[in-house]
Amino acid sequence: MSDMQPLELSVVVPCFNEEQVIDQLHKVLTAELEALTQSFEVVLVDDGSSDSTVEKMRAIHQADPRFRYFALSRNFGKESAMLAGLSQAEGAAIAILDADLQHPPALLATMLPKLDEGYDQVVARRTRKGDRPVRSVLSRLYYRVFNRLIDVDLQDGVGDFRILSRRAVQSLLALGEYNRFSKGLFAWIGFSTAVVDYDNVERGAGDSKWRFSDLVNYGIDGIVSFNARPLRMAIHLGTAVTVLAFTYAAWVIITYLVNGNPVAGYPTLIVAILGFGGVQLIILGVIGEYLGRIYYETKRRPHFLLKESSNSSEVPVTVVLGPEHDLLSPPEPRSLERRR
Ligand code: UDP
Ligand code: MG
Repeated sequence: MSDMQPLELSVVVPCFNEEQVIDQLHKVLTAELEALTQSFEVVLVDDGSSDSTVEKMRAIHQADPRFRYFALSRNFGKESAMLAGLSQAEGAAIAILDADLQHPPALLATMLPKLDEGYDQVVARRTRKGDRPVRSVLSRLYYRVFNRLIDVDLQDGVGDFRILSRRAVQSLLALGEYNRFSKGLFAWIGFSTAVVDYDNVERGAGDSKWRFSDLVNYGIDGIVSFNARPLRMAIHLGTAVTVLAFTYAAWVIITYLVNGNPVAGYPTLIVAILGFGGVQLIILGVIGEYLGRIYYETKRRPHFLLKESSNSSEVPVTVVLGPEHDLLSPPEPRSLERRR
């Protein structure tokens, strides 16, 4: 920022095809933030929208330079868009909220003071009021299962809507993994966390981009990206099935020897083949899931590419995160030099 006064608050907003709501967002955010703090910036991140979201961002920035924007070269997903925003935000405190006004900006006024009380994360927790019952039962179940499986503790209704201190953001940026499950990462970095409740709000305009299959995949991602417990479960399952098979074999032999029972061939065979086949496929799937992740991590690709921003044309195109990389300038070609 050009003025010397340190920025108090940055608000990061990932936007994917939000042309219908972004002007309204600008209006609401401006009103809320002006009432809240002397110095703020809003970092809009366009996640490769195919509508006129970027054009609108340009216009908003022209009219109000406190709104900066960064456009990714394609749709990288919300996780990457948030990361892009966090890496560019300059404030002492950084808020993240959705573009669709489902994360009521008015709540920032309650959240921000908590940061001064010494918390490093202030998270907004959505109450399930007004949700369809099926949906809320499913989510509750999801968190129940989830928390049993992973090491960090996730809370129902807690999403990406939160304010982070500068050091919490730096910690997040230092995690260089490619597969980013931010719910887990937010919990993993730790620091003291305060919770503020809010009621569910309908989308300002447009549609949610989540489908049911996305949610299922998101669930699997969360579990697999946070620990290796499913691999351990594969060992348990394998052991259990093996023990079962041996017990059954023993029983067949004994009944044959003692009673002279004929061995029931066909059903036994089919059940065994299908059973073992199924178990092996599941375990292969679990191993494959981890292997795939290792494969992606080893490529060390940047998390996102920028194609345009309000900063001018000098924005670095690639931003690779991780402890050994400078966040704002492209990494030095160390490996090339060593070769010479
Ligand atoms: N979003 C994004 N990239 C995507 C999908 C969504 O940046 O690929 C943004 C979207 O613009 C919104 C936020 O993530 O600001 C939440 O998306 P959405 O409202 O579709 O999800 P929901 O609220 O239904 O979870
Ligand atoms: Mg939404």
